[in-house]
Amino acid sequence: MPCPRGTPFSFELYPPRNEAAAKALPETLQRLAAVGPDFMAVTYGAGGSSHASSLNVVKQILSDTTVPVMAHLTCIGSSHEEAGRMIREFLAAGVTRFLAVRGDLPADSPPDAPLGDLHSAAELVQLIHRIQAEREPYREIPVPGLPRARAVGRREKVTIAVGAFPNGHPSSRSTTQDIDTLLAKQASGANLAITQMFFHAEDYFAFVDRARSAGVTFPILPGIMPATTPGVLRRMLELSGEDLPAELGIQLEVEPTDEGRREIGIDYAARLASRLVAGGAPGIHLYTYGRPQTALAVLERCGLIDQQHLTTSNQKDYA
Ligand code: FAD
Repeated sequence: MPCPRGTPFSFELYPPRNEAAAKALPETLQRLAAVGPDFMAVTYGAGGSSHASSLNVVKQILSDTTVPVMAHLTCIGSSHEEAGRMIREFLAAGVTRFLAVRGDLPADSPPDAPLGDLHSAAELVQLIHRIQAEREPYREIPVPGLPRARAVGRREKVTIAVGAFPNGHPSSRSTTQDIDTLLAKQASGANLAITQMFFHAEDYFAFVDRARSAGVTFPILPGIMPATTPGVLRRMLELSGEDLPAELGIQLEVEPTDEGRREIGIDYAARLASRLVAGGAPGIHLYTYGRPQTALAVLERCGLIDQQHLTTSNQKDYA
């Protein structure tokens, strides 16, 4: 079943990880921007590992497209001062939407590796709001008819999204803890949540019900990633800690052709997106991760964009 036209959608990309991706970036951004997403989000490596490249992509989106950008920021391993510097740099670049996540230490870190001064995403949300308030305590608004006069207006509020985990964060001890964490993020000033990738619409609906009953009021945007090969599916399970969706896993394993596997992944993601939207999800957030063409194909299958956006270029997915 197609999604109603006008259903909001957004993309998440990571900064280029190889030469092919870097070369393809300008065209990738143009092709994604051309379909009118609500925003494009750019990931940020934990510990600042992708600082320069993330900021670069953010600046390119701001200068080369009219699509609002959402900059991810992480805090693990950073001192208070380093986190503040990072936030100021992104604000100075013109970013007004953030996704604040804690980040993870590298898997091979020693058990006593320093966690940094900020221990949770909620603390990072607070710091972004505080720094934004210090930078711009109020806004000056032109007064019509009085060219030199300025009225004092309320300062522009930044949007701060946070991560949400429909099937629990891997280190969470209970489903209650996941909801409590989300409430803490809301209390810190977050105004949107984007979910970790998941495979079953029921998991999202049950999570949203629990969150609403506990008092979470901000929109919870479902994150979807198309699994187009067994390798991509494995990577998704690693990233999310989700259980293997057996039916999809088997279909991808037995299908002999690349094209057939791609079709299976696109179809699964499009059906999931349609069910989510039909059940009340406020939009769709697509993890593109090196596969912009696949993300566009999912949107086309959902009826949200026209086919012309898939066929006018010979640009390929590069991961
Ligand atoms: P937190 O909200 O701080 O929570 C982490 C864990 O600590 C949870 O188990 C929570 O229950 C527990 N916890 C937190 N606060 C408390 C408390 N006060 N008391 C008790 N327990 C608590 N990683 C990157 O490195 N870069 C990215 O760009 C990135 N983007 C992401 C985008 C999305 C949409 C999502 C869902 C995840 C993303 N991640 C990213 C991964 C994220 O960094 C990891 O999942 C990380 O382990 C948790 O981050 P968090 O912000 O949810 O942390």
